[in-house]
Amino acid sequence: MDKAKTVCWSCGAVNAFPLAAGGKRVVCGRCKFPLPPPGEVLEPRDEAGLETLLGNRSLPVLVDFYSKTCAPCLLMHPILERLAGRRRGELLVVRVDVERHPALASSFKVQAVPTFVVLSRGYEVARTAGASSESDFSLWAAGAAR
Ligand SMILES: [Zn+2]
Repeated sequence: MDKAKTVCWSCGAVNAFPLAAGGKRVVCGRCKFPLPPPGEVLEPRDEAGLETLLGNRSLPVLVDFYSKTCAPCLLMHPILERLAGRRRGELLVVRVDVERHPALASSFKVQAVPTFVVLSRGYEVARTAGASSESDFSLWAAGAAR
């Protein structure tokens, strides 16, 4: 059975998620928290979940700092969703609403939305701001998160 790596946002453990689960609930092998299906854009509601994902040392993370009232941000959402699907099991795509999480946004010195930050083993390795075309964005992401 095909599996893809995903990170539990409750405890940070890496899990092999069976892709044939067909919408069934899959829980973390360590803490039994329901796992997010690989290939989806992740948006934990609580700060602890976000910090667990952003600090994980197993998979690179692309963070989308956005605001609901920003048109270029909304334009980028489907591009991010397709990227998350294409790179499932290799890259986590995490969305952070800067109005809900101002402290997190300021700890990353986010000054404009959308801002995209790539983290590897918890450290920032690349950043870009503003909307771009899907091909430009995919190229940037491919170079930034290997
Ligand atoms: Zn867990």
